Amino acid sequence: MSSAVVERLSFRGTSVGARLMLMNAFLMLALGVVSVVTWRALDEQGRAMSDLALISKVARYHQDADMLHATLRADVNGALASAQLSGAEREALERSIDENAMDLRRDLQALDKLPLPPDLTESQQKVRRIAEAFLSRAVEIGRLAIRDPRGAAPLLPAFNESIDSLRQAIDAQTQLLSQRLVKSNDDAASAAYDAKRWIVWAFVIAGIGIGLLVAFVSASIRSSLRHVRDVAHAMAAGDLQVRSSDATRDEIGQLARALNSMADSLSGMILKLRADADRDAFGTQLVEALEMADTEEEAHETIARAMNAIDEDRPMELLIADSSRAHLERATAHPCAGAPGCGVESPFSCVAVRRGNPVTFADSEALNACARLRGRGAPISAVCVPVSFMGRSLGVLHVAGRQGEPPTPLQVAQLTTLGIQAGARIGTVRAFQRTQRQATTDSLTGLYNRRTLEERARGLMTDGVSYAVVIADLDHFKRLNDTRGHEAGDNALRQFADVLRRALRGDDTPARWGGEEFVLLLPQTAASAALEVVERIRALLAEAQLVADTPAFTASFGVAHSSMASRFEQLVRIADDALYRAKEGGRDRAVLGDPAHVEPAMRRREVEHPAAMDIERIAR
Ligand code: GH3
Ligand code: MG
Ligand code: MG
Repeated sequence: MSSAVVERLSFRGTSVGARLMLMNAFLMLALGVVSVVTWRALDEQGRAMSDLALISKVARYHQDADMLHATLRADVNGALASAQLSGAEREALERSIDENAMDLRRDLQALDKLPLPPDLTESQQKVRRIAEAFLSRAVEIGRLAIRDPRGAAPLLPAFNESIDSLRQAIDAQTQLLSQRLVKSNDDAASAAYDAKRWIVWAFVIAGIGIGLLVAFVSASIRSSLRHVRDVAHAMAAGDLQVRSSDATRDEIGQLARALNSMADSLSGMILKLRADADRDAFGTQLVEALEMADTEEEAHETIARAMNAIDEDRPMELLIADSSRAHLERATAHPCAGAPGCGVESPFSCVAVRRGNPVTFADSEALNACARLRGRGAPISAVCVPVSFMGRSLGVLHVAGRQGEPPTPLQVAQLTTLGIQAGARIGTVRAFQRTQRQATTDSLTGLYNRRTLEERARGLMTDGVSYAVVIADLDHFKRLNDTRGHEAGDNALRQFADVLRRALRGDDTPARWGGEEFVLLLPQTAASAALEVVERIRALLAEAQLVADTPAFTASFGVAHSSMASRFEQLVRIADDALYRAKEGGRDRAVLGDPAHVEPAMRRREVEHPAAMDIERIAR
């Protein structure tokens, strides 16, 4: 048997409801057949029984007719011998003959009305004809014999002949009837037996048929369910790749398809959860790595490594704006694949920065693609992720790839995380550096402030490094302020700071001490060398004033050396004293300090910087 036939016979694809309906229909059909068979068997038996009853009735009529015919014969014989009878006896005899003849005729008429079978009808009609002849002769001879017995004697032979004929006809009919009676009896018994046998067979066959069909249908439902059950078990055990191949349109096929859809949804959800977990893991690692970056350069290095972790072959670059936030420059690029080379110049020329969201371009040739993606040789795909810190744009993370092959959604999510974390770290580092700069420098001149210088001096002393201290004070600065304005005073302070920066080495520390006073810390510098430095400063200042359109001013300097005192505060006092003497000496000059002249210097400082004196006292 071909598999198609087996498939068809197994009812696969037929709905479970239809299979049960089919079973129901077969059950009803079987019941119908059993009912028809039972009805027919009972009908047969009933017909046999009614045949039997009819034949019995006919036989009874014949017995009656036979009796009446005997009585009539006796009456006629009685009449023939009625010469000595009284008138009343003759009348009674005549009445008896009439009544018996009437009864016999009634019997014959009753027999006529009975629906005899055809084989009996003919013999019955013969009996009837003979009986009629007998009756007419019996009545004729009986009446005549009552009135004239001798006159009736010639009729006797014919009467006897009719008696014999009737006798023979009734005997023949009775014999026929008894045969029929036996046959009808047998037929009735056989019909009853057949009825029982048919009923039993009908029930047995219907029962077996129904049983087989129920077993077949339930087996077909079970076999359909078994496959779906196995698939459901496999899914429950965690295998979400398994799918049911049941493509039938029945309820089980629908269940199988529902299971397949459920597995599809679950697989999708798990993939998404895995992608989220991967992205979260990437994000966590990135945050930890960036936390270790103390400078922007270190952050750039980490970002480059993160680029490689996202995709080893895709060119990427981080374009970051300078502190003015006007110009974008490449801060870092993919360590292996290099930079795609976006030509965007300022953050707000970048569409991703303007939108504040990552933008994906599948094809640089598309109508709505960024114009900066074109003109790079072959058409490309790209993703641009804005980089910002606390709502301020810092730059953009730019990624390129082959045309029509933009990064995957997971990579875009990772790039977005990288953009966010890069912005957060670079912004934090910049903010920290700004705060640190503000805490260590003077905002007007950009030089270190007094606290920083004091810390460095303490560091040098702790390390046992010798150094020179120079205090500079602009000459007649109050006058410059008063005559040229405060702004000109500020410019003079900035100009003097520039001169200091240019005149000093990298190891030296120039600081604004307060007002128009500056202190210079010159490590590993002898006093004489410090005086040379001062001369260089004075020369540079004079030179700067020649070219710059600023009011001319000079400065006086006091110089001390770490060998002159054991504490920095004492050195400052010695240098301050020297400065005092430089002022006294006519200004625009440098004087080397002398520890013996410390007290007058203290007096000058108390007048000019009472707050500084307080700090020193507290420090002491
Ligand atoms: P001397 O030659 O004796 O040092 O005279 P001087 O006028 O420079 O000294 P004085 O101490 O009398 O005046 C210092 C002036 O410096 C007073 C103040 O107005 C000015 N000054 C201090 N700090 C600033 C500043 O930040 N900007 C400006 N424009 N002026 C300042
Ligand atoms: Mg001063
Ligand atoms: Mg001054």
